[in-house]
Amino acid sequence: MTTSEHDTLAQRLTALQQDIASHTHQQESIPTLLAVSKKQPTSKIRALYAAGQRAFAENYLQEALAKQAELSDLTALEWHFIGPIQSNKTHDIAQYFDWIHSVDRTKIAERLSNQRPASSPPLNICVQVNIDNSPTKSGVSPAEAAALCHTVYHLPQLQLRGLMCIPEPRSDFSAQQAVFAELAALRDAIRAQLTPVDATTDHLTLDTLSMGMSADYPAAIAAGATIIRIGTRLFGPRPT
Ligand SMILES: *Cc1c(COP(=O)(O)O)cnc(C)c1O
Repeated sequence: MTTSEHDTLAQRLTALQQDIASHTHQQESIPTLLAVSKKQPTSKIRALYAAGQRAFAENYLQEALAKQAELSDLTALEWHFIGPIQSNKTHDIAQYFDWIHSVDRTKIAERLSNQRPASSPPLNICVQVNIDNSPTKSGVSPAEAAALCHTVYHLPQLQLRGLMCIPEPRSDFSAQQAVFAELAALRDAIRAQLTPVDATTDHLTLDTLSMGMSADYPAAIAAGATIIRIGTRLFGPRPT
């Protein structure tokens, strides 16, 4: 990567952070920017790291493990898994990631909890919700989300953090905001149902709404996103 490509990534990061702040109202906290690095080279991850970015997300396990090995000299990187999870992959996913955004069935949640090393802190979990009830999309249906959240909440090596969604593309802002508001309302309803086991340790439960990508993050922020997942807008187009 040339010096100017390096500078461009740093500039894009700064511009994006400013844009995120400009969409955040005064009384809210600024959502966390998750840099979606799938299909992008580690040189670009290094450039963003040098510019201060720490949280990165990957969709494909083998690609992610290879990149993590190449980047093992970088400290305090935070790795998020956001892709579909096959049960034969849970062993490595439970070991090599800090967050999982794409848990959509009980069997996967149980395997992740069983396989999370005892020496590691509990794995941060978002339940992926198929907010459009689309037959072709992954995620638990909105009607089944509460039951899966209860399961995750009670698994010892998992820390239930919130809900994630990938809505069908919508072109106008208000339609985008409306679907993200549905996820926010679902989160609020489930949070109200979960009885704290211990009020002092329960503060993290369902604090997270992982929603918004390059095409719709301003609407997600308006609906209360706490983590936005940005690939193209930060890295540029994904190499094919
Ligand atoms: C690829 C991907 C993103 C980022 O998409 P962009 O449109 O490039 O910002 C976010 N979330 C998930 C789950 C993805 O797979």
